[in-house]
Amino acid sequence: MRAEVIAIGDELTTGARLDTNSQWLSAELAVLGIPVVFHTTATDTLEAGVEAFRIAAGRADVVVATGGLGPTADDLTRDVLAAVAGQPLELSAEALVAVESRFARRGMPMPETNRRQALFPRGSRMIPNPDGTAPGLDVDLLRSDGGRSRVFALPGVPAEMKRMWRQTVVPVLLAMQPERGTIVQRRIKCFGAGESAIEAMLPDLVRRGREPLVGITAHEATITLRIAARGRDEAACRAAIAADEATIRSCLGLLVYGVEDDEVEDAAIRAAAAAGISLASGEIGTQGRVAALLAQSDARAGERMFRGGTVLSPGATDDPVAIAERVRRDAGADLGLAVGPPQTDADGNVVLDIVLVSDAGVERVTHRLGGGATLAPSRAAKTAVDLVRRSLLAARAPEPTRNLEVMR
Ligand code: AMP
Ligand code: MG
Repeated sequence: MRAEVIAIGDELTTGARLDTNSQWLSAELAVLGIPVVFHTTATDTLEAGVEAFRIAAGRADVVVATGGLGPTADDLTRDVLAAVAGQPLELSAEALVAVESRFARRGMPMPETNRRQALFPRGSRMIPNPDGTAPGLDVDLLRSDGGRSRVFALPGVPAEMKRMWRQTVVPVLLAMQPERGTIVQRRIKCFGAGESAIEAMLPDLVRRGREPLVGITAHEATITLRIAARGRDEAACRAAIAADEATIRSCLGLLVYGVEDDEVEDAAIRAAAAAGISLASGEIGTQGRVAALLAQSDARAGERMFRGGTVLSPGATDDPVAIAERVRRDAGADLGLAVGPPQTDADGNVVLDIVLVSDAGVERVTHRLGGGATLAPSRAAKTAVDLVRRSLLAARAPEPTRNLEVMR
């Protein structure tokens, strides 16, 4: 079984936006054991779309496409698929209910243009979209040689696309190759060391062809280890994953902060909630990112641990210890977290101080800014937020503080 991935959108062909969907889907297909042989990117015209799908259906057994499913005139994927399948577009009652209920839940009437999203080529199946209005399409395209190609068309919005992929498309693809057994995946999330440093700490886990397969990816300084186990059933896969996860956790210690969709801030807020510790922040060098991360996670988890954040411009009080003490006192919080201004150290490195103040005293980390103008502040903010988790966990279990060094 061979696959092709199609990305649709003018924003991609003009270079205004990077096609991250194809990258993500290709890694997913590889885990399922389905090799991707072609990537195609097409503009938002009927002609380009028809050509792209016709060619893909002629050379791949599975085609996964993203984009062009919105309600506007430039969203043509459903018209394209109807043309290539040679089938009329029909209103799907099931899809119309799904689209309408999205609007009803927000107390809004459905604009007439959104009816388009309930149109499906005759004979196609709907892929439900729990997070948005655009349902996906699952269509069989017949080839001139009598063979058929299975096409899954998903929306372009990455979060919607990923959820629909996991929920609906993966089970269908697994069922299409029953001899290959079941696949179970688990993501282990790490922060505080680079991708290659983390790989070097693991005993030959990240090797192609290994079973289970362990992949490593980095996104804004967060490292994800993905374990994919193939086995005769789910229990066998879970057992294999548990063994690898135990190895990873014992090798990486505090570098592992969570699993699956956890972010660094979720782990920090969770650690604070578990310890019954409230916190407040004050920051200069991270321009509000620390407060944004903590507030976001606090709201998401329904916790009330974060008492508020202050954003300061460089000036009168640049001493992070004084800032941490003040925000802690003003908010009546147990912990005060502060990020100082960027400074140049004796070796010419740009660094900033991160300080945590509590009844137990002052903890200070000097963080070296790296990763360029866009990544550096976000990495520094995550480092500050992660210090909360590390500090609270180290206070509870004094031994595995060894990896603290790696982050500095
Ligand atoms: P669409 O489904 O074509 O309306 O796309 C909705 C949004 O998803 C676009 O505005 C883009 O921001 C994003 N998007 C579409 N295709 C991709 C892609 N291949 N990679 C990353 N983002 C995308
Ligand atoms: Mg588009």
